Amino acid sequence: MTVPSTPASAVRTRIAPSPTGFLHLGTARTALYSWAYARHHGGSFVLRIEDTDVARSTQESVEQILESMQWLGLAHDEGPIYQMQRLARYHAVVEQLIAQGLAYRCYATPEELDAMREAQRARGEKTLYDRRWRPADAEHPHKRLPEPPAGVQPVVRFANPVDGAVTWDDLVKGPITIRNAEIDDLIILRTDGVPTYNFAVVVDDMDMGITHVFRGDEHINNTPWQINMWHAIGAASGTGVQLPRFGHCPVILGDDGAKLSKRRGAVSVTAYKDAGYLPEAMLNYLARLGWSHGDDELFSLEQMVAWFDGSHLARSPAQWDPAKLAWVNAHHLKQASDERLAGLVREQLATRGVLTDDTALLARAAALFKERCSTTVELADWCEMLFVPVAPPEAELAAHVTDAVKPGLRALRERLADAAVTPWDKPGIAAAMKAVLAECGLKMPQLAPAVRVLVCGRSQTPSVDALLALFARDKVLAALQHV
Ligand code: GLU
Repeated sequence: MTVPSTPASAVRTRIAPSPTGFLHLGTARTALYSWAYARHHGGSFVLRIEDTDVARSTQESVEQILESMQWLGLAHDEGPIYQMQRLARYHAVVEQLIAQGLAYRCYATPEELDAMREAQRARGEKTLYDRRWRPADAEHPHKRLPEPPAGVQPVVRFANPVDGAVTWDDLVKGPITIRNAEIDDLIILRTDGVPTYNFAVVVDDMDMGITHVFRGDEHINNTPWQINMWHAIGAASGTGVQLPRFGHCPVILGDDGAKLSKRRGAVSVTAYKDAGYLPEAMLNYLARLGWSHGDDELFSLEQMVAWFDGSHLARSPAQWDPAKLAWVNAHHLKQASDERLAGLVREQLATRGVLTDDTALLARAAALFKERCSTTVELADWCEMLFVPVAPPEAELAAHVTDAVKPGLRALRERLADAAVTPWDKPGIAAAMKAVLAECGLKMPQLAPAVRVLVCGRSQTPSVDALLALFARDKVLAALQHV
């Protein structure tokens, strides 16, 4: 059967993470595409928590997912909807399907199924369920089923079409066809009454009016089942179907060329938050990992929404490139307001036990240092010296605080100590330094690095007058005292 494309209608997209771990970067990317596509079309974006894997789902993971989505700024219009709160609905659909001969109870025990697969392997066949409990149908009108065995709790299986093929025009990969002979009668309801992913996802996408499904391409092989179920449920309920468009995005590869995974470093969204990345930079970078708009590498979320119309999605996997992410982040860091950066740096410092409420000072420091930073962690590395004692490294002292410079440092200290001579601001400090250079016959490249090393432990910093102005006068005087 060929799946027609969705006509123009209110676009509704969703992201449907399973709460069995943190929000993975790949899921964040498909969430971004789903969100941007809905926003582009003035549609709605639904958040659904697929918690039917009861053994592995945790509340902690749900919270982590919600926190990640919120941090990224991908606001949902509906949800979160929890599948485990919809069991009654799934059961009703199962009963409808059974009544219409589109699903059936299967009493085969795990041992029987093992024996079945072993025999299939011995014959060199694909291991597919042999439909032993499928009731008589047009193809097997005389089939007789045994009596259901006593004490065996059945599963429910979907009666997948036996012949033909499923074809859909994938938004990412183009037309895909999978023959029904390749797939079997999937379990849709487990013995404990919990639905399986492929069934619940269809009931939900249908009930929630989802028009476009973006997800990872590990789900391509699930799609034929889902499309068949869309038709079956539509037929059973008499409502007909309006299939969604599917877009299967390629995996993200790690920088070693293998699939990005937990074992290959941080793959959770929150790990990047902690490492000092900005949400808009993460979204910018994630967007480009599977989609393009000409040669644009740096863009805002507003631009992405304006551009993201479902075209130009990449067919081949992209590689995670930490250096490029840092570059993208550096760009967005420079665009960010100093007040916002101050708040972020304050949080970073707090994780190190450096507590401050002086966000006005942090904002001034952010303005000075952000040009040289890729992350707010690097920015916090700079700002930390404003709040904790600095111990200049011996090697730096030896290299820069030389006997030739020491008289200049003493003269500078004297000038800076006198509030009547040196107002404590950038121009005041600049004037004091200039006067000392003339007085002591020194050059700026001699005096400035020595001052920097003594005050902040580094010989290379932004302009020294602006740097000193960030510190309290007595702190600078104390640092110069060592000479
Ligand atoms: N719960 C599935 C996952 O996390 C959702 C797949 C889908 O979007 O259909 O992979």
